[in-house]
Amino acid sequence: HAARESGVALLHFNAGMAAHYTERLQLAGRIHIAIDRGEFLLHFQPIMDAAEGSPVALEALLRWPQLDGSFIPPADFIQLCEDTGLIIALGRWVIHAAARAQQQLSAAGWQHLPIAVNVSAVQLFNSDLVGEFSRAMQDHGLARGALQMELTESVLMRNPTQALQTLGHLHANGVGVALDDFGTGFSSMSYLQHLPLDSLKIDRGFVTDVESNPRNAAICRALLSLGHSMGLSVIAEGVETEGQRRWLAAHGCDQVQGYLLGRPMPLEQVLAMLDESRSA
Ligand code: C2E
Ligand code: MG
Ligand code: MG
Ligand code: MG
Repeated sequence: HAARESGVALLHFNAGMAAHYTERLQLAGRIHIAIDRGEFLLHFQPIMDAAEGSPVALEALLRWPQLDGSFIPPADFIQLCEDTGLIIALGRWVIHAAARAQQQLSAAGWQHLPIAVNVSAVQLFNSDLVGEFSRAMQDHGLARGALQMELTESVLMRNPTQALQTLGHLHANGVGVALDDFGTGFSSMSYLQHLPLDSLKIDRGFVTDVESNPRNAAICRALLSLGHSMGLSVIAEGVETEGQRRWLAAHGCDQVQGYLLGRPMPLEQVLAMLDESRSA
């Protein structure tokens, strides 16, 4: 009886596993086709000077539009793309699409507004990232500093030596580097100090209740002081209220990003918003 029971359990387990893998395989197939057909889109979210409110950069965020008008969020497909290696082709498309967008910005008089691209570990360690950025910048006639990239701490700590080398090459080519979701990983400070970084992005989790939670306020103050002592500019992510922006500006935060300043949006909307800010 016990054997039959465990046999049944095993059967269910296998069926569940099989369904899971079939689903992932099907999704990977759909992503592959969507890359080939050019179905992915970039949206852009403004990053503003914390005190002045003027735009200083845009972050490119990947969107996968569906036939019903909805979007599949990156959280639902980036991990799978990393696991399957699809992130290399998709990430290459993102770099080139961001370069094309910056070219359009430049044509509209915004050549000093860089676009930041999110980069995965697989791209950093298993693709010609330096070449990809150079080609994209060259193909679109971009100046040094027109593109930036965002990496998380855990990505860098995976292979510090290779990361140092690749970041050095990118930096030499005029691609600025920001450390994304800062405070959530486990960076060795002595190691970070040697990396060619330009900015730290304080993770949204610490910003949400910065005014009411003394612990998160202390963490934000510490991250601001850490970043500034390393000569980096500090950006706060997920700023949703004027109160948060005021707190951050008062504590010396350089730049803010979040729904308060603007949601991720298509380039045409960004251009319209920028035109308004220029005439204001
Ligand atoms: P991230 O790089 O930390 O991007 C910030 C995320 O926070 C974005 O989510 C953005 O839409 C969201 N966000 C911005 N402001 C606010 C706010 O005020 N409140 C709240 N609640 N959320 C805010 P999104 O677009 O869903 O992207 C999620 C993550 O997916 C990104 O986190 C990034 O790690 C990854 N991702 C997005 N695009 C790419 C890409 O092209 N390549 C790679 N490798 N990863 C990407
Ligand atoms: Mg980012
Ligand atoms: Mg982030
Ligand atoms: Mg994130």
